[in-house]
Amino acid sequence: MIETNKISILKTNESKLKEVDLENLVFGKYFTDHMFICEFKNNAWQNPRIVPFQNITLHPACAALHYGQAIFEGLKAYKNEKNEVFLFRPEKNAERFNVSAQRLCMPSFPEELFVEAVKELVKLDHEWIPKSKGASLYIRPFMFASQPVLGVRPADEYTMMIFASPVNAYYSDPLKVKIEEYYTRSVEGGTGFAKAAGNYAAALYPARLAQQKGYHQLIWTNAITHEFIEESGTMNIFFQFDDTLVTPPLDKKTILAGITRDSILTLAKQYKMPVEERPVKVTELIESIEKGSLKDIFGAGTAATIAPIALINYKEKDYLCPPLQQREFSNFAANYLEKLRKGLIDDPFNWRIKVM
Ligand SMILES: *Cc1c(COP(=O)(O)O)cnc(C)c1O
Repeated sequence: MIETNKISILKTNESKLKEVDLENLVFGKYFTDHMFICEFKNNAWQNPRIVPFQNITLHPACAALHYGQAIFEGLKAYKNEKNEVFLFRPEKNAERFNVSAQRLCMPSFPEELFVEAVKELVKLDHEWIPKSKGASLYIRPFMFASQPVLGVRPADEYTMMIFASPVNAYYSDPLKVKIEEYYTRSVEGGTGFAKAAGNYAAALYPARLAQQKGYHQLIWTNAITHEFIEESGTMNIFFQFDDTLVTPPLDKKTILAGITRDSILTLAKQYKMPVEERPVKVTELIESIEKGSLKDIFGAGTAATIAPIALINYKEKDYLCPPLQQREFSNFAANYLEKLRKGLIDDPFNWRIKVM
């Protein structure tokens, strides 16, 4: 047992790394040798520890399985050719974890311990981080109500865990998306701004209907009237109309406040590009495609960083977006963020944390 601050560490006797080809990974299939676990009981977080990756047992009445008190985060660790390892703005994930926790009536988790636990886990399993372009170690912190309670009320006991999974460059064809006009991901007063497990469950069925029609994902619009664009799948959405970068605003709490979104806005301002956080009507988007004023359109999130949108379906009609090679800003931002995260360029915004 090693003690680091207050996290105890029990190392595995046998690494599984030799069974994995880090250059050829299936997304989400491999998990590193260790995991972090911590329980909330008697009104306090207890016994934060890193242990060999293993199954957990649950009581069948575990509250999370019935009433859905479950939240998560997603962030990545990056390694370069000099074997330096970095995290990208992990304190933002710690902060957002507690925003989600509060909305789901769950206890907050100490933000310093969150970052410390991520760092220790990454240090211990650093050999699992692939170095190739676009590759990283995906880190998944999550919390769920672990107490057996059948009454509908906030549980008194929770489990917080962190595990990690090596991933290659996210590659997908440029997205074909369908504008959703009936189903809803999020509504004012709801939980759309939280990374709550139930939000993703509720989005699966409408997404599947779109996939059956040949689209990769949905563009979510505001609940009930479906006039304004909110997000693209599980990513934030950006448009470039002429020279201006535009993304929908967070004020109605129906949009998840992405860390990639915030980084791209900061970068665009630095790049002296006019930036607007304002509502975008579906009709404005369609007209901009018809007039040729739409220059760029992409989803933004930790998994893909930037996922270009190539085609939009609206009211049974397909609209082609500008060719990818003409999209200056998103190409620049994707490259810049990749280099910054890997420690290959300066870090003027202090976004990087060096783990080792
Ligand atoms: C996680 C997530 C995002 C992107 O957030 P990042 O911090 O950039 O990864 C956007 N929208 C939804 C619905 C999400 O769950």
